[in-house]
Amino acid sequence: MLRFLSAQSSFNLWVIFAAENLLVTLLALLFGWAILKLTHKPIQQASRQEVFVCLVTNIINTMITYAGFWLWKHGYIVLGYELSWRIIIDFFMLFMLMDLAMFIFHYFIHHSAIYKAIHRFHHHYTDPTPIDLFVLHPFETVGFGSLWLLIITLISFNIYAVFIYLAVNIFFGIMGHLGVEPIPSGIRKLIPFKYLGTSSFHHRHHLDISYNYGFYTNIWDKLFKTYKEG
Ligand SMILES: [Zn+2]
Ligand SMILES: [Zn+2]
Repeated sequence: MLRFLSAQSSFNLWVIFAAENLLVTLLALLFGWAILKLTHKPIQQASRQEVFVCLVTNIINTMITYAGFWLWKHGYIVLGYELSWRIIIDFFMLFMLMDLAMFIFHYFIHHSAIYKAIHRFHHHYTDPTPIDLFVLHPFETVGFGSLWLLIITLISFNIYAVFIYLAVNIFFGIMGHLGVEPIPSGIRKLIPFKYLGTSSFHHRHHLDISYNYGFYTNIWDKLFKTYKEG
């Protein structure tokens, strides 16, 4: 696949990356809406502003994808291609590292003037819906994207681990913005759910911005005493 992409003109690459980002967004929203249907939660119609910002986020993410590809092509991002145990180890490393980096980033945003100017935008709705995963201030989308590119430039990861991580990232993002908890409370007390950032975990953050800054796990919140049960 990377060989196919390397042979494309830059115009073709922009088209491919834009289509890929839009497709991922569409599939993510369909997945979110399917869960809401299963839980019989009434699905809120997305506002015009939400749809517009979601499209802007897609344009920025297309630029991030292009930048990532450019960094890879010029040897700044080095990936592993072997089908081995490295996939699991690298995925776990990416999962934990990005969770910690985003926790710090998110905590810092809430405790500085940046919150009022930028991140408040995402907190417009206390009752989030799946599309709100993509309703971020453009600066924030650039910030998260840059953080991602920085980490994969500094450390070499297995390419399959990167793809699995990206899929898991979207999965957690959608789950966090369902506005409803599909996992029964009994199961949420079990390992590994006990340590994961569930729907109610991030929903709680939308209801009360002093708690739950993590994304995939609640480990950092528990460690830094900012954890509140959903
Ligand atoms: Zn926040
Ligand atoms: Zn959110």
